[in-house]
Amino acid sequence: MTTRRSLIAGNWKMHKTGDEAVQTVQQLKTLVADAGDVEVMVAPPFTALTQVATTLAGSTIALGAQNMHWEAKGAFTGEIAPAMLVSAGCRYVIIGHSERRQFFGETDATVNRKIHAALAAGLSPVFCIGESEAQRDAGQTFSVLDKQVKNGLEGLFSKDLQSLVVAYEPIWAIGTGKTATNDQAQEVHAHLRRLMAEILDNTLAQTMRILYGGSVNPGNVKGLMAMPDLDGALVGGASLDPETFSQLVHYQG
Ligand code: PEP
Repeated sequence: MTTRRSLIAGNWKMHKTGDEAVQTVQQLKTLVADAGDVEVMVAPPFTALTQVATTLAGSTIALGAQNMHWEAKGAFTGEIAPAMLVSAGCRYVIIGHSERRQFFGETDATVNRKIHAALAAGLSPVFCIGESEAQRDAGQTFSVLDKQVKNGLEGLFSKDLQSLVVAYEPIWAIGTGKTATNDQAQEVHAHLRRLMAEILDNTLAQTMRILYGGSVNPGNVKGLMAMPDLDGALVGGASLDPETFSQLVHYQG
């Protein structure tokens, strides 16, 4: 049986100034210092990345960004290039979060360009996919996800995707307090792993980490993480407070 190291990742969205972010990770460093078998990542806003990277020096907490542009440089006012994230100390970058798709016009095509660019820069993309409530109610969950995965990964092969992390985030569960049940999440994760085996290869499908995201909190994390195909969580609201986030990291006991 393949063992996949769990990843508990905090997406801070548009929260925390540089100083607030530093304060949070200072506490978090101590709180999760013993979480050896679980990997921890935080994704602060761009403006806090370098301060957080400095604060995290010597700790095992990984740094991620919440977005990036696919071009290396140029006249793209307000955008951030992959190499800028690498030089700021990022190992991960969240790509295609549903808020980016919903409010900033991201499509499967732009997500695909970003995944290519992130991998080329040596960043591990956290590739977000998820269905809306209407799509779930209409029985379209698998077809929506299949399309997002196939389009998002177009032109990539298993040799390119060793560091890719997938985050299944049902849109109806993000920031709503409504979580997928353990069985609903497992059903989708198992489906995604089968899909990866079909379109890429079985070895990659077995080693690829698939995170769940959507109102994960200290009360539901243990049940979700006990499901065989859930390899961690992408957490929004509950990642902002270091004590609460640490409880998620320590879901095993
Ligand atoms: C997210 O934004 O990725 C997320 C899962 O948010 P929340 O945990 O607040 O639902």
